[in-house]
Amino acid sequence: MACLSSGETSGTTATFVIVDRWTVTVASVGDSRCILDAQGGAVSSLTVDHRLEENVEERKRVTASGGEVGRLSIVGGVEVGPLRCWPGGLCLSRSIGDMDVGEFIVPVPYVKQVKLSNAGGRLIVASDGIWDALSSEMAAKSCRGLPAELAAKQVVKEALRTRGLKDDTTCIVVDIIPPDNSIQPPTPPKKHSMLRALLFRKKCHDSSSKLSKKLSAIGTVEELFEEGSAMLAERLGNDYSTSQSTSGLFTCVVCQIDLAPSEGISVHAGSIFSTSSKPWQGPFLCADCRNKKDAMEGKRPSGVKVA
Ligand SMILES: [Zn+2]
Repeated sequence: MACLSSGETSGTTATFVIVDRWTVTVASVGDSRCILDAQGGAVSSLTVDHRLEENVEERKRVTASGGEVGRLSIVGGVEVGPLRCWPGGLCLSRSIGDMDVGEFIVPVPYVKQVKLSNAGGRLIVASDGIWDALSSEMAAKSCRGLPAELAAKQVVKEALRTRGLKDDTTCIVVDIIPPDNSIQPPTPPKKHSMLRALLFRKKCHDSSSKLSKKLSAIGTVEELFEEGSAMLAERLGNDYSTSQSTSGLFTCVVCQIDLAPSEGISVHAGSIFSTSSKPWQGPFLCADCRNKKDAMEGKRPSGVKVA
């Protein structure tokens, strides 16, 4: 879902959801949100809000990259509104296509993948106007028992009733239903609320374990993957394949441009901040992407503009 503002230099948020049987993968930039209402009444978020006001880590990243974080200052020095970053004045720390902000506003998505139990569940994807009015819980509760299409309308209605503003109120509801059942939207929870903390388990790398199968059978959500870092080397992981070097051809791992062997800069290679012991290992970056990477990660020397 894209939420476009007017103006040629304005960007957008994006929330991308792939449903493959019981596996749900969400990649998100900005402050639109995707929540999961699992069978049994456990509501969880599959996105994080890239808002400076609420996200301490992102505030640190932006200031480390040379951006300033502060509120709008009106006459008399009075500060108003949410935290924004300057230049640009955006209250988001990540977005796509914002042209008039600094390089520290990055389009790197938070990615999360979960596996639902075979009881299924409901996804509610909505833009920031909905979440300004409703908590994830409230949105989920407001539409339980309704089929998906009516549920989306009900969430928008509820948001308007609560806050009265129609700005950025887009909502999509997707029900993931077991194939042998007819339409069966999530039912209101019975006595499961005490178990909620247990139902949503943290990272599990061994999805085939007996434990997870057992838990799956009683309606849990299994977390398969989560990555929200803006740090490239962290996202690519330590076990990233270096097979590309055996072909004799190097390509930039980000933009895929071909590189002469002398041109490639290792993703581990070092600024003075680097603690890596393997600056000659792949994956490799072109000079352009290396500059962007450094800007993203707060390693841009002050005063140097990235073209
Ligand atoms: Zn590149």
